[in-house]
Amino acid sequence: MALIVHKYGGTSMGSTDRIRNVAKRVAKWARAGHQMVVVPSAMSGETNRLLGLAKELAPAGSSPELNRELDMIASTGEQVSVGLLAIALQAEGVEAVSYTGWQVPLNTDSSYTKARIESIEDSRVRADLAAGKVVVIAGFQGVDDEMNITTLGRGGSDTSAVAIAAAMKADECLIYTDVDGVYTTDPRIVPEARRLHTISFEEMLEMASLGSKILQIRSVEFAGKYRVPLRVLSSFTPWDIDINEEAKSGTLISFEEDEKMEQAVVSGIAFNRDEAKVTLLGVPDKPGIAFQILGPVAEANIDIDVIIQNVSQDGKTDFSFTVHRNDYARTMALLESTVGPATQAAKVQGDPKICKVSIVGIGMRSHVGVASKMFRALSEEGINIQMISTSEIKTSVVIDEKYMELAVRALHKAFELEKNPE
Ligand code: ADP
Ligand code: ASP
Ligand code: MG
Repeated sequence: MALIVHKYGGTSMGSTDRIRNVAKRVAKWARAGHQMVVVPSAMSGETNRLLGLAKELAPAGSSPELNRELDMIASTGEQVSVGLLAIALQAEGVEAVSYTGWQVPLNTDSSYTKARIESIEDSRVRADLAAGKVVVIAGFQGVDDEMNITTLGRGGSDTSAVAIAAAMKADECLIYTDVDGVYTTDPRIVPEARRLHTISFEEMLEMASLGSKILQIRSVEFAGKYRVPLRVLSSFTPWDIDINEEAKSGTLISFEEDEKMEQAVVSGIAFNRDEAKVTLLGVPDKPGIAFQILGPVAEANIDIDVIIQNVSQDGKTDFSFTVHRNDYARTMALLESTVGPATQAAKVQGDPKICKVSIVGIGMRSHVGVASKMFRALSEEGINIQMISTSEIKTSVVIDEKYMELAVRALHKAFELEKNPE
């Protein structure tokens, strides 16, 4: 008997028929003798619908007070899902009980809309499991010290599931979704993308942090920190497929450094449309200038991603960096009102229509010429590179958003990712 956590995403929970299917699958695992904790997301589209309603009424700008209410509203999507799933399980003849985040409780800090999990109290859940019940816990949500409902950021049910698996020392956490595993890139963009049987934890972390939305980045961080055995697999296989076959399907996130079965130099391509670029033209090229520019930006709690500073000409330089697109207007306002004048910039420019495309692979550590192959493939398509950033196992380029899909396809082809590496 093992303790298993299943997570079902929005599409997998998208209708009562699909929820019934999820219940049948979970019932199969429970009947096989496993203790089951199930973490569903809201039904697909529901979180957007709820936040859309809030937006219709919300005042301009952002504030902790507003974000508190957004979490109050958004968390209800998952509350409906857990109730429906528990009922569907009971209809299958399986004892089941549902909990919201605060009932568990799953404790978080108070950063509404992007709260971080601090601890999980599992005694209630354990008691139910011991009594033979399937426990259904709402994903995406928690509670802070003041008993306010919090949410964990979009896609946060992945993190709920992995954190619960970590806290309860589950034998495995299975993330069921609408694709049958982690692919070399998003199969919606490149139909030839290939499913990976395993992906190293490091690569998965890079893919997630570079924009691949298959897993929320914090879920991968949790898996790494607590060594949670993690697998991504399809919820669309027939629910009654052989359980042993199902348990081996999908993509395993592997922690074994040298057990890299697929020896490709580049394992995957990630892309991110959520960034925007800002540039200060003609700032004095002197010590401290980067701090003078980025200090106030950091103080305003704006995350900075790629940074580029040009060579100096006549003592002046141009300085560009990217921020999340949600922070674009705020960053531009800050640069135009204070940072630009303070640094004597000749001009402040912005471009919200950029994207970042990245190649990822631990093989890049030991191979040269990977980045240049990337640049050649992009140049052959006439795609201009605006910024470049590299680390040991990834190279990212910032390009015009309109070339994103072309770039991803060209790179997928150039690195022959559709082929199985031998
Ligand atoms: P869920 O609702 O189950 O959490 P998501 O929409 O969050 O599902 O994530 C699954 C989607 O992630 C897939 O439908 C796919 O389009 C997208 N995706 C992005 N990158 C990848 C990748 N490398 N491999 C597989 N799917 C990916
Ligand atoms: N329902 C939440 C969202 O849409 C959480 C999740 O799906 O993981 O972001
Ligand atoms: Mg998701």
